[in-house]
Amino acid sequence: MRIIDFFRKINNAIFVLLAFNILIFAITLYWLKNNLENNLIKYTIDFYIETSKNISSRMKKYIEYEQFEAMKIILQQEYDNQNIIYLAVFNKQGANLIYFSRYPQLVDYVSKKDFISLLGKTQKYYIDDYNLNIENGEKISKLLIVITPIEKTIISDIQDKILIGYLLIVFDLTRLDNQLKTIGFYSSLVLALLSLFSIIVSIFMIIQFYKPIEYLRNLAVELSKSKFNIQRRVFWFKEFNYLVDSFIRMAQALEQQLTLLESIASLDALTKLYNRGAFEKFYNAIALESKMKIALGLNKTFAVVMLDIDNFKKINDTYGHKVGDMVLSKVAEIIKTRKRNTDIAARYGGEEFIIILNVSNKIDALKFCLDLKNIISKTEFILDDGTKLSVSASFGVAFYPEDSKDKDALVKIADDNLYNSKRKGKNRVSVILYGKLVDLEDFKQIETLKVKDFAEG
Ligand code: GH3
Ligand code: MG
Ligand code: MG
Repeated sequence: MRIIDFFRKINNAIFVLLAFNILIFAITLYWLKNNLENNLIKYTIDFYIETSKNISSRMKKYIEYEQFEAMKIILQQEYDNQNIIYLAVFNKQGANLIYFSRYPQLVDYVSKKDFISLLGKTQKYYIDDYNLNIENGEKISKLLIVITPIEKTIISDIQDKILIGYLLIVFDLTRLDNQLKTIGFYSSLVLALLSLFSIIVSIFMIIQFYKPIEYLRNLAVELSKSKFNIQRRVFWFKEFNYLVDSFIRMAQALEQQLTLLESIASLDALTKLYNRGAFEKFYNAIALESKMKIALGLNKTFAVVMLDIDNFKKINDTYGHKVGDMVLSKVAEIIKTRKRNTDIAARYGGEEFIIILNVSNKIDALKFCLDLKNIISKTEFILDDGTKLSVSASFGVAFYPEDSKDKDALVKIADDNLYNSKRKGKNRVSVILYGKLVDLEDFKQIETLKVKDFAEG
């Protein structure tokens, strides 16, 4: 499993996680609510039963001697303190001796109930469908009725208990129930907020991890395609920013290395001019650009110049290969110094060079070639033993778009013209003027040819 896939999966599964989170939340809430309510109600009921038992045991000595005033005081106290809404004492025949009630309807309601009290047994009745409207629009709906026997212990041969009466207490559980509902509501709220918080935190974390990893991965893909134009992004975690910085530095270094490598690969080792491969790339680009410019109605011209050293084989044969190499690099040096920055010169073959001249007319191209031809032929090559050597070169020129709009045909024309120069005796420049192939040895011939202006537009 890749990290990126993992985070992508989480990213996709965010809604599943969300649903899962809500489910856990609901289950927890349900469990909490039930347990809380059940336990609280259970404990409250137990407490009330104990209260009832306690009251009944305190009552027994007064009921026996019918001390009603004392009983009244005790009951009054309990009645005031507890959530008691009805409290009554009966004798063992079931006759009511004393009672307190907050609501007369309650006395009526309880009297209709058929309670059975067993000796020594306390009974409880939980009623949750009681419906009594009291003041302020409130209601009493949940009751706990506890009936406790009041017993007397007689000590004769064996210890024994006899029933002397009953204590009946009605507790109001409505308020407790409401309180539980309030607790339930607030605990749900707290849980919901916690749950929401955890969801937000998880989404935030996922985004803060997933996004940078995806971004870095895309960077790596871009780099592998040699795209070094990196759109820098800033992330929340510092580590990712350090990583992005490193990536950018790496991309810069890589770009520099690649540029260097490209320039090395595109240069001819001996002459340090562009090699044939590099030339083809440039030439393709220039041809394409020219085609587009012309299609847009713009002006675009250039000249292709082919240049070949005369009798080079003889130099090699006479002075050796090393001298031949020296002559080659020297000629290349002359070409480099004569050409302008916008011109492209390359070693096309063994002792053959090609130059793309960024000129606007054929005359300028011719002037350049004749100038170069003269410099080459006037240059003295001094050998180690002091021998002075001179060489010459032949030229062929073709002009775009006048001679051809096809890039390969243009080179072929330049090459054919070069061949013409060789045929006519070398050390000259051949070009098509007025539709006629001519070869020139110096500028003056241009005048005699009455060439006015060959600029193409
Ligand atoms: P032409 O005047 O018709 O051009 O005759 P040429 O002798 O110059 O032409 P040819 O094609 O007969 O011979 C070219 C020679 O150039 C043959 C080859 O050995 C030599 N050559 C090619 N590359 C190199 C190189 O890098 N160094 C050296 N020293 N010689 C080379
Ligand atoms: Mg040659
Ligand atoms: Mg040659």
